Amino acid sequence: MPKDSRLDEHSNMALAIALTERKVRTSIIEMETNISATKLRELYREIHSGVSPVPGPSPNSDTILATRKRVVEASIVMNLYVRRTRNGAYRTIDAWALLSAYDDYIEHRAEAGLDDARPLSVSEAWLLARELRSKKLELRPCSCGCRYAVLENQCLKPNCPVCGAENKPAPQPSTAAARPGRTGEGDSPFAESIAASRAGPIAPISRWSGRSQSRPS
Ligand SMILES: [Zn+2]
Repeated sequence: MPKDSRLDEHSNMALAIALTERKVRTSIIEMETNISATKLRELYREIHSGVSPVPGPSPNSDTILATRKRVVEASIVMNLYVRRTRNGAYRTIDAWALLSAYDDYIEHRAEAGLDDARPLSVSEAWLLARELRSKKLELRPCSCGCRYAVLENQCLKPNCPVCGAENKPAPQPSTAAARPGRTGEGDSPFAESIAASRAGPIAPISRWSGRSQSRPS
């Protein structure tokens, strides 16, 4: 066996193990590693003490972004991922970068007090990463300073999940909407917690927007 293909085999197996440990869908791991589904199911049982992977189709992307809270979650993980790949995420799926961004996302939402709801799964993050690569998902900039996930033809109205603004492509960032309390989203504890955390020492929006946040002087 040529040395290169043996190395490929090792790196594919390392990736398969990392993804299996996080219970990523077998169909996704198969696409990422070219390891057969049968072998991957065996690997899963080995890693998860004899338990089999969950069967059935992967969720579709539109159901991942079914609510505004989910858009916030998706936006956090996708912004972290894009930043980690230095925009390479628009051309290819970098599974290792996605895992790393996912770990940051879990830490990040706990810091921001957003861990009362179910986080996105790695499988869901991967599906969004695929849509990003296919240009079906964009990170739309908002004047409040965030960049949020918008899926082509999504059912949910594509307003900013933080401030509620309707955004057209690429408006110039403004500082006007950055203050907590100006969100018009007071009915959402989730939006309030984001607004509050933006005002404090933890500034999740600026971190996941991938750029420094300008504040009104
Ligand atoms: Zn906004």
